[in-house]
Amino acid sequence: MAVRFKHWLTAVAGAASLVATGAAVAQAAFPAKPVTVVVPFSAGGPTDVVARLIGVPMGKALGQTVIIDNALGAGGTIAAAKVARAAPDGYTIFLHHMGMSTAPALYRKLSFDPLKDFEYIGQVVDVPMTLLGRKDLPANNFKELQAYVKANGNKVTLANAGLGAVSHLCGLLFMSQMGVELTTVPYKGTCPAMNDLLGGQVDLLCDQTTQTVPFIKDGRIKVYGVTTHNRLGSLPNVPTLDEQGLKAFEVKVWHGMYAPKGTPKEVIDKLNAALKTAMADPHVKQRLAELSSDIPSADKMTPEGLRTHLTAEIAKWGPVIKKAGIYAD
Ligand code: ASP
Repeated sequence: MAVRFKHWLTAVAGAASLVATGAAVAQAAFPAKPVTVVVPFSAGGPTDVVARLIGVPMGKALGQTVIIDNALGAGGTIAAAKVARAAPDGYTIFLHHMGMSTAPALYRKLSFDPLKDFEYIGQVVDVPMTLLGRKDLPANNFKELQAYVKANGNKVTLANAGLGAVSHLCGLLFMSQMGVELTTVPYKGTCPAMNDLLGGQVDLLCDQTTQTVPFIKDGRIKVYGVTTHNRLGSLPNVPTLDEQGLKAFEVKVWHGMYAPKGTPKEVIDKLNAALKTAMADPHVKQRLAELSSDIPSADKMTPEGLRTHLTAEIAKWGPVIKKAGIYAD
């Protein structure tokens, strides 16, 4: 019995050391297979555009393919919950925008905690928004749009990508500053919303330049203003909403990259290095400049930079959203 017990102990010790060696090898070899970036909105939309743009050079830097997984619904919270529950091995990571900081106040029941269930890889990009209308909307400029929405109220439809999407928040800001209540139409991303705007099925959409610049330049939709303090290099003739009288209408959408809680630090460091390499890639820089999107400073593109920013944003948005009384069960 004693001998058998000793064998057993030796076997367990052997297995344990095998496991330890295996883990070390797996870690040292990360990534040994493709890395999946979960995107919380539909393919072809502005968040997806960023993920696919940086996914290629990130994959090159990692020596593996980067796969995009569009996990749709509930303003990005379904995707966040999916990543929070994924294996913490670096093979499932998450790209989301500032919706990560508004979700705790917007959703009464949230099955993840942005500050407890994730490791932080770094901030990714800051993207302006644009206020758009279907091409045949009678309002030809922002002044006419103000009169149009006031006269037509809830007959006017305003698309968004669900509660917690920035298109939703931007639309709320627009309605509250205009003092009107429009009919909001939720989609699973602003790519399908844009398709309906192009087809004339919805009237208005507020969305990021990472999707909207090409459509604006082609003249396939109407643009009423940009949400930044200054005009954008990519759309120099489009006035800001602020200069047209919507004072303090400033929205710039920050993005972050996350991994499930417990992902080893060595793996996070590799992912962060790959992110930094991707953001320094000349094609990425040029494309983001064409879309008037800013690359964050080096200190923000770090795990600590993202965690600090997310914490501050959650503290900022909580009271604003509670005061506005917007939430989902
Ligand atoms: N732009 C969307 C939003 O409003 C999401 C997307 O489709 O990327 O948050």
